[in-house]
Amino acid sequence: MQTRMTPMTEILEGPEAIVAAIARLGLGQPIAFPTETVYGLGADALDNDAVERVFALKGRPTTNPLIVHVAGCEMVDELVEEWSSDAQKLADAFWPGSLTLVLNKSELVPDIVTAGGPTVAIRCPSHPMALGLIEAYGKPIVGPSANPSGWISPTTADHVARGFAGQDILILEGGACRAGIESTVVDLTGDAPIVLRPGVISTDQISRVLGVDVQIKQHQDEDIARSPGTTGAHYQPAKPTLLKKTAELGAAGPDIYVISWSGGIADDARSSSLPEDAAGYARGLYNAMHEADASDASEIWIERPPKTDDENHNKEDAPIWHAVMERLNRACHPTV
Ligand code: AMP
Ligand code: MG
Repeated sequence: MQTRMTPMTEILEGPEAIVAAIARLGLGQPIAFPTETVYGLGADALDNDAVERVFALKGRPTTNPLIVHVAGCEMVDELVEEWSSDAQKLADAFWPGSLTLVLNKSELVPDIVTAGGPTVAIRCPSHPMALGLIEAYGKPIVGPSANPSGWISPTTADHVARGFAGQDILILEGGACRAGIESTVVDLTGDAPIVLRPGVISTDQISRVLGVDVQIKQHQDEDIARSPGTTGAHYQPAKPTLLKKTAELGAAGPDIYVISWSGGIADDARSSSLPEDAAGYARGLYNAMHEADASDASEIWIERPPKTDDENHNKEDAPIWHAVMERLNRACHPTV
């Protein structure tokens, strides 16, 4: 009789998890690891074949560049042509944290990481397990969100396991992600710094550190390949998902899963209520989408976030609501 090993999705925690992850990284096998934004699918950023496996596992088009994760500024030097004073200022202010810097790449960075382009996106995550992993491995690690391409980003180890059920992948257990949405991406390679993807760190915060006005790039269709997270459908549940005004929620039938922030909705098998503050909402959003997608509802309704120019509204929340809206516009199917 012949026995056959089948690939296994395995979740491990603690120091044992780091040891196992490092062994796999050395063999060019993908692992999933927690960061404070979302869980990433990790591979040695300097190992072309390992990075290829990450693209294949995600089903991600190779025209979409990956973010390289480092444990600190010392690791960046060999990855970039020049580490500018603006890069140093931003790293001093926001690293470890949810800010990704786009810089001109060095020869060392394989083309597959940058989708053949001359620039590389780099971030130092603040999650202790991510930092511990990269430090222990001693080399930079790519980390696109650990989900099949186009689907909802994972903010727990279980979300990752659901996305890659039965696949040969080791998942490091690091709890629920604190920020809950992807990093802010700022491009420092042009004449002026520009934000390619909004996130929890706002343009105002970046402007204050650099002493210049920083804008968010208005994306054109031709940017799709360059900044995949920024244009078109993305972060999508498999079920039809619609954005609804607060007043429309009362019309939700029993077959509809409702995700709301304004209260008055029971948190049960067919609904999730999220906090009213933007940071709390961002932290819980992807989990609510995962729950909705796993439920037996036929459709998902998401309550439109509050208008940020509303007088009753906390002004400091506006940038995070903007980043949330970015994700919702891509998660939701057009209303007919
Ligand atoms: P993900 O890791 O799935 O959240 O997506 C990576 C994001 O990083 C993309 O959506 C891009 O916006 C950004 N990115 C990665 N590399 C580059 C680069 N070289 N130039 C511009 N943006 C990049
Ligand atoms: Mg992603």
